[in-house]
Amino acid sequence: MIAATTLPRVLHGASGRPLTLEQHEEAFSMTERPGTLVEQLEAAGLTGRGGAAFPTYRKVQLIANQRSHHKFMVVNAMEGEPAAHKDQTLLSSNPHLVLDGAEFLAAAIGAKNIAICVARDNPKVVHHVQRAIHERSRRGRRGPKLELHAPPWRYVAGEESALVHWLNNHESLPQYRPDRPHILRIDNGPALVDNAETCANVGLIGRFGADWFRALGTAESPGSTLVSLSGAITRPTVLEVPLGASLRSILVAGGADPDPQAVLTGGYGGAWLSGDHLDTPYTNQALGALGATVGAGILVVIPKSACGLVETHRIARWMANESARQCGPCAFGLPALAEDLRELAYGSRDPRAVLARLVERCGVIEGRGACRHPDGVTRLIKSALEVFATDLNHHMLGAPCVGSGSTRHYVPIPALEREEEMVWE
Ligand code: SF4
Repeated sequence: MIAATTLPRVLHGASGRPLTLEQHEEAFSMTERPGTLVEQLEAAGLTGRGGAAFPTYRKVQLIANQRSHHKFMVVNAMEGEPAAHKDQTLLSSNPHLVLDGAEFLAAAIGAKNIAICVARDNPKVVHHVQRAIHERSRRGRRGPKLELHAPPWRYVAGEESALVHWLNNHESLPQYRPDRPHILRIDNGPALVDNAETCANVGLIGRFGADWFRALGTAESPGSTLVSLSGAITRPTVLEVPLGASLRSILVAGGADPDPQAVLTGGYGGAWLSGDHLDTPYTNQALGALGATVGAGILVVIPKSACGLVETHRIARWMANESARQCGPCAFGLPALAEDLRELAYGSRDPRAVLARLVERCGVIEGRGACRHPDGVTRLIKSALEVFATDLNHHMLGAPCVGSGSTRHYVPIPALEREEEMVWE
């Protein structure tokens, strides 16, 4: 049995190659579990690791209480951001742990089908999952049917309502969901959608119980979590850390710049955090007090030599391209925000008017999309205006900041690499 107080947990036994079913059973032996899974999940305090951090047991209860013979369990491993690699690392190491968790959850809600969703643009991971499903079926295991689905990779494709829409209609379009929590449906059957890392944690809690799970982390944020670390670092990496570890300790463990200008937290719809806050514990509670978030477990480090406005413009431009363009705030608002940021980052005749327009546009766009895609962009921009106030002041005075002339960029956005020729005008 793996020790409760040590790491790795969900990456236990990972060696760079996916564990076979036999290796997995050896690494994660089954123990007698007291109480029901839902009771254990509630006592464990597990929250979703995909970004929303909703209590897992409440989602399970909601679907378990629906009267239907056609329920679905959906494993979301789409990872729509270029800086996110945790789900692919997990599925390339311990695919069976994710499938165990999905099977536990399917049994708890009474689902006969499990859909595992991995972006088709990641053929290696698709292959690992395919192989794991095949190994399980060769054993003649009873239980819900495991099916692999491979939608095309896009930022919004991993949004859970977009993913369910794809499973229904082969279109990755987020759905308008005024009431939360909202029950998503596949062929009219209620669907429970959980992120791959969440499922892996369910696989552990289902084996070892809530007390074991709580031996790491804090009382409010128990357990461990995976972090995709990139930016000012020799090699982007994925780490498993206890929740509550300081940001500084995570950067040091991953070999990133330990004295950065800022860290992007939560992903491209997250928020910047100044390098002065590196002693903050990595939890939603502590980061939330500073306007930041754990989100999808992404940290992108930028050094003091970088221009935060340039990096934010790159993200906003990419996010504007990635919207599903079915709502006005995304179709018209996000390109306008990106253009305002371009003027602030690279020089404008009237930067004060541009800044005022940008702030006003953020206010107009917020809360108007069918999904939270535009809200993520406005949150990111507002955090940038605060955290990079010094860069902004330089730009407002009509002068480039220290990083404006640099052609080196830190936030990974592969699709934009060919376009990175903009310079201060
Ligand atoms: S807000 Fe944007 S991403 Fe979300 S549904 Fe509307 S157009 Fe699509």
